[in-house]
Amino acid sequence: MQIPGHIEPVVTPRVQVPRADGRVELVGLSKPEIRAALASAGLDLKAARLRAKQIWHWIYNRGVSDFAAMTDIAKVQQPWLAERFVISRPAIVTAQTSTDGTRKWLLKGADGEEFEMVFIPDADRGTLCVSSQVGCTLNCRFCYTGTMRLVRNLSPAEIVGQVMLARDSLSEWPSSTEGRLLTNIVMMGMGEPLYNFDNVRDALKIVMDGDGLALSKRRITLSTSGVVPMIARAGEEIGVNLAVSLHAVTKEIRDEIVPLNRKYGLEELLAACAAYPGANNARRITFEYVMLAGKNDSDDDARELVRLLKAYRLPAKVNLIPFNPWPGAAYETSPPERVKAFSNIVFEAGISAPIRTPRGRDIMAACGQLKSASVKLSRAELDRIAEDKQAALG
Ligand code: SAH
Ligand code: SF4
Repeated sequence: MQIPGHIEPVVTPRVQVPRADGRVELVGLSKPEIRAALASAGLDLKAARLRAKQIWHWIYNRGVSDFAAMTDIAKVQQPWLAERFVISRPAIVTAQTSTDGTRKWLLKGADGEEFEMVFIPDADRGTLCVSSQVGCTLNCRFCYTGTMRLVRNLSPAEIVGQVMLARDSLSEWPSSTEGRLLTNIVMMGMGEPLYNFDNVRDALKIVMDGDGLALSKRRITLSTSGVVPMIARAGEEIGVNLAVSLHAVTKEIRDEIVPLNRKYGLEELLAACAAYPGANNARRITFEYVMLAGKNDSDDDARELVRLLKAYRLPAKVNLIPFNPWPGAAYETSPPERVKAFSNIVFEAGISAPIRTPRGRDIMAACGQLKSASVKLSRAELDRIAEDKQAALG
């Protein structure tokens, strides 16, 4: 039994488990870390610097994972590198394609823990939805991932690895290819990215590096359920677009559906958003709002949403998400006319409020439908997990 108030639901960073074969994984290391790894294996500093630069380019610009294919590295040195280092990807357990073209992959880390990633192709862009944790320590009541018991943080290698796997399957190497399909990244898969801050930051820095995957910070969005103390750091140290899972405009309802609200309330959250470094009218903060029938979808809710966004002078756009159902969920999707009416009220106040088209529902790839554990839990078990997580929130 957990004692309420005594436990912070933050995942303790896990020390990287060394590989059984003793080799060092290079994916997920920064350039200076690769340099240091090469130097500690015996290269002199000058050679380490040159090799690190070359290897970085092969890994992130060309998608190469075999040292023997690195043609600008001396043939004799290639096996030396292969004995000491490895460039790998998460393993693919299953890959599915939806009738609407959305693709979902179930992936596996070296310890067997599973997580998912989703690719959503559109006419003018392709968005990769990336996971940051296995499961989630939070338990938003409408989210399938929140019912998962097992949680660990994904490593930088596993986060960057998702982007690399997507490039592999879209045949998009080298990175400089014009007109590529993967144009945007959203940290909206499994997990709360701001509870895995260091790994998410380190991974996104690699993803943004110009001599590599080279995705601009303007094409990356990080979504948080409202981990207030980490929002300023996200702006300063990562600098990507911010999305906030607001979902309710009163304390009573947000406490219920996003229990983290009991720890960091609405006012605190909106104030942190107003201070988000880099947010302005050209780069707005996205407020996600899941439409739950009879719960948060009234005209009054829409008007209160407008009032709050204006009161905090937020450069905001609102993303209305029809609730995506999952087995055992306690909510229903608001009727389309309700969603439309809600959207109109927000639009008329001068705030953009598009309705998100659900994608990949047939393969359980839509927002809030990701869950990797194969075990099916009963309603009572789901409630117990929710209670434990709430107790941990204090
Ligand atoms: N943990 C982060 C990011 C992952 S969830 C967060 O909560 O922001 C991505 C988005 O999907 C969030 O806005 C989340 O609230 C929303 N979501 C979760 N479950 C959903 C469901 N069943 N239907 C629609 N949206 C959902
Ligand atoms: Fe976690 Fe986000 Fe799901 Fe909430 S909505 S349980 S924070 S993944």
